[in-house]
Amino acid sequence: MSQLPFSPAVFRAQFPLFAQQENRDLVYLDNAATTHKPQAVIQAVGDFYVHSNSNTHRSSHRLARRSTEMVERVREQAAIFLNAASAREVVFCRGATEALNLLAYSLCSGLDAGDEIVLSTIEHHANLVPWQMAAARHQLRLRYVPHTAGVPRFDRLHEVVGPRTRIVSLTGGSNALGLRPDFAQIRNQLAGYDLRWIVDGAQLAAHEAIDVDSIGCDFLVCSAHKFYGPTGIGLLYGREQWLESLPPWQGGGEMIAEVGLYESEYAGLPHRFEAGTSSLADIAALGAALEFLRSQDRVAMAAHEQALLARLHEGIGALPGMRLLSQPQHNLGVLACAPEAGQAADLMHWLDGRDIAVRVGHHCAQPLLHAAGTGATVRASVAAYNTFDDVEAFLLAVADYLQLDQ
Ligand code: PLP
Repeated sequence: MSQLPFSPAVFRAQFPLFAQQENRDLVYLDNAATTHKPQAVIQAVGDFYVHSNSNTHRSSHRLARRSTEMVERVREQAAIFLNAASAREVVFCRGATEALNLLAYSLCSGLDAGDEIVLSTIEHHANLVPWQMAAARHQLRLRYVPHTAGVPRFDRLHEVVGPRTRIVSLTGGSNALGLRPDFAQIRNQLAGYDLRWIVDGAQLAAHEAIDVDSIGCDFLVCSAHKFYGPTGIGLLYGREQWLESLPPWQGGGEMIAEVGLYESEYAGLPHRFEAGTSSLADIAALGAALEFLRSQDRVAMAAHEQALLARLHEGIGALPGMRLLSQPQHNLGVLACAPEAGQAADLMHWLDGRDIAVRVGHHCAQPLLHAAGTGATVRASVAAYNTFDDVEAFLLAVADYLQLDQ
């Protein structure tokens, strides 16, 4: 399929949820939590069960062959989506969280007490807690990129990287502020060290085409549900030479070559990291999401999102009584703000009463908000199906709320 010219209206029309009578007035600005699904993705789940349902790799009958071929075909699609060197570098996981837990378990099992892991204050809890658990298990030291009021100074990453640094695991885009770090700046500061650089690409994947080769990272994780795909499935990219050297993290069927009573031989890449039956219908739907994105003009989609984001920031910035926490530049689809007086939760309920869906809270980034000295914030996050009408409805509702409060 060739690429379609991007039209927000045509794009939106592919998402059946918006066509439901009850959602006629819905303004959905909670895309950093999860995106809606196009018809092709919804259809793929049903099609799998109707036409292919069978376990993979284990049996060799017609349906099993079909399922196995589907899984390996989607892996090839994912390798293209990420610009990985081969499908051997792509592992299916439940999502970014599981992929980060896998890395924390497997990478840290080879480290010595006192070795260091570098993180930042802006990370999602999924990129903090697994490292804290691994650090406690192996007596490792966690270090943080210097920050100003919680916002990491990635230009000063080099200050916390040294000869004991073994892992640097940083966001590819913050779900709380949208902030997209400069990958070249990070890569340059890591050059010459014997360490593994992990990118948490969960917020990145819906907003930019990912190219692991040009980023230059060793590992990257993402979740399909955040880029128009199904829940319950995500991707771990790992450079083949590093994946090859890692111990598996879960044992069971699928990940073995030979099993004995006292020890076993593991399967090759990437199956060694995929113990048990995967979420096969979701892999089929992930394939549909990857094809859906491949057929879009990603540059035009991103430009549309940037225009929405610019207007959101301009509108909220002009409202006395609102505190703006995000910036529209280098931002992957997120407006973060809070009312100067009163509770963010009250504003969220007011918006919900008008069928405007945003998120209020800590956005799984408590250390950031603690360091910034902010309580809960309101997050409005865009996807390519959002319209300027959505943005104006949100701005008007916030302005009305502030009026009410006076
Ligand atoms: N990292 C970031 C930046 C996220 O935004 C999210 C989820 O929203 C995650 C990690 C965790 O992803 P999941 O819950 O899909 O595993």
